[in-house]
Amino acid sequence: MTKSKHLTLVLADQLSWQNPAMVDVSPETSELVFAEVKAEATYVRHNKHKIAFLFAAMRHFAEEAKSRGFTVHYFQYDAGIDSLFKAVARCLSKATYSEVRLCEPGEWRLREEIADWQSQLGLPVSVLEDTRFLASHADFATWADSQKTLRMEYFYRSMRKRYGLLMAESGKPIGDRWNYDAENRSGWRNKDAVPVRLDEAQDGITADVIHLVDEHFLDHPGDLTRFSYAVTAERASVHLTHFIQVFLPQFGQYQDALAEESTTLFHGLIGLYLNAGLLDPLDVCQRAETAYKAGHVSLAATEGFVRQILGWREYVRGIYWYHMPNYASNNTWGAKRPLPAWFWTAQTDMRCLHKALEQSLNDGYAHHIQRLMVIGNFALIAGLTVDEVCAWFLAVYVDAYEWVELPNTLGMALNADDGIMASKPYAASGKYIAKQGNHCQKCRFDPKLTTGERACPYNSLYWHFIDQNLERLSKNPRMGLITGQWKKRDPAERESIVSWAEQVLATQL
Ligand SMILES: Cc1cc2nc3c(=O)[nH]c(=O)nc-3n(C[C@H](O)[C@H](O)[C@H](O)COP(=O)(O)OP(=O)(O)OC[C@H]3O[C@@H](n4cnc5c(N)ncnc54)[C@H](O)[C@@H]3O)c2cc1C
Repeated sequence: MTKSKHLTLVLADQLSWQNPAMVDVSPETSELVFAEVKAEATYVRHNKHKIAFLFAAMRHFAEEAKSRGFTVHYFQYDAGIDSLFKAVARCLSKATYSEVRLCEPGEWRLREEIADWQSQLGLPVSVLEDTRFLASHADFATWADSQKTLRMEYFYRSMRKRYGLLMAESGKPIGDRWNYDAENRSGWRNKDAVPVRLDEAQDGITADVIHLVDEHFLDHPGDLTRFSYAVTAERASVHLTHFIQVFLPQFGQYQDALAEESTTLFHGLIGLYLNAGLLDPLDVCQRAETAYKAGHVSLAATEGFVRQILGWREYVRGIYWYHMPNYASNNTWGAKRPLPAWFWTAQTDMRCLHKALEQSLNDGYAHHIQRLMVIGNFALIAGLTVDEVCAWFLAVYVDAYEWVELPNTLGMALNADDGIMASKPYAASGKYIAKQGNHCQKCRFDPKLTTGERACPYNSLYWHFIDQNLERLSKNPRMGLITGQWKKRDPAERESIVSWAEQVLATQL
């Protein structure tokens, strides 16, 4: 009697042969199932770029699996199978399998949903830990349990040692410093030309997907005439090579910059590939390290880049799984103002915010400083509702998945997690935005003014945030200077700034 095969479900963000549900499978032992389903594509109003990228990448990956001899069950969106469960159940109704296998999903929501499958389907369902990350759940928990506070920097150092990245033989970091952040903060003064990105030609598979997404997701943000993402591991790797050769040398210097002229500056544009499995995080770090060793990239730029992937990316994932499900309901500052409708249209006179929202909606991309210091900072100091801000961030970006979006938005940008991720809020006034770039030159508001029609709204909102949360902030030693300054100000001046901020909130939101 022939032994029945496994049915391996491959999720859209697990398109890697390193996916643990696939590493030891062969066409003789396993059949694969892929599904483009409504439940996953619409649980928030995902950017069309994200849906198109994932469907196109999944179709290409499935083709590759077929060429490797696998029997592939592929449910395209218009086949009408609207949930992952139904896709699996459909396969089980047509043939006998010994078990269903999959790699654990990256979002709590889906993990909860899958927990019931075994009893509903009546056969074993194996959910395997996602080994594509560099710190397992147990690794992170062991580290976290040994710490008083969960600071990224210490986690990052332990990861540098563990993976031997940018380490000297003495066991010390190359260059004798762990972190070159202080050298990576230049503002944008339009002195350097930003090189051109690689073009990405679309084949018939991707063109079909773009057509489908345009037809079915009309009310989702995103302008697919601008779609230019790679959809295979091979092409993502070509983009990475181009990034390392052309952009990485200035990545560090302009990491925190904001520019009128460029939506991407010297950033990698690789988050979507890493998160979907088209690039491997260790390989990306090692390729950057090789460029450093070849003398092509400075230590500061390489370290800054490696820290993002080996440090921040792994750390936020660790925070997510260590603290979920309670993490999502944190709201330290009691924020409760509704998200302004213009977050979905980018119609605001604040130039930096307009530019950041516009490219987020159109392209599904904004770089880190736009997400953190322009959009996130505004949401923090304006007191926007945590849930709504998080749902917006989860919807608009091509690289968004809750495991990475939630700690970044709720923890880092909104500082709503009671200080788990950051020892102080990343709140900043318009002066910071003016220092980091040139948006203010094209803005109708003036970053030097705090009150009055021409005053930059970030200024009064910043002080309003300090004022409204003075008691709590005064207890934070890292905020002492600012709260002290505010307390020393003339009460009449404070009063006028706060009342102007209230007016801004009433009129701008
Ligand atoms: C409010 C907010 C929301 C965010 N939402 C997401 C999200 O949904 N998905 C996502 O992947 N990242 C998110 N980030 C982190 C970061 O902004 C993006 O990873 C980055 O902008 C992606 O662009 P890039 O590939 O050009 O990154 P680069 O600047 O070139 O950095 C290289 C890589 O480092 C990693 N990285 C850098 N910073 C972080 C970070 N803070 N957390 C995790 N990984 C990091 C990413 O994989 C990124 O691709 C968010 C940050 C903030 C402040």
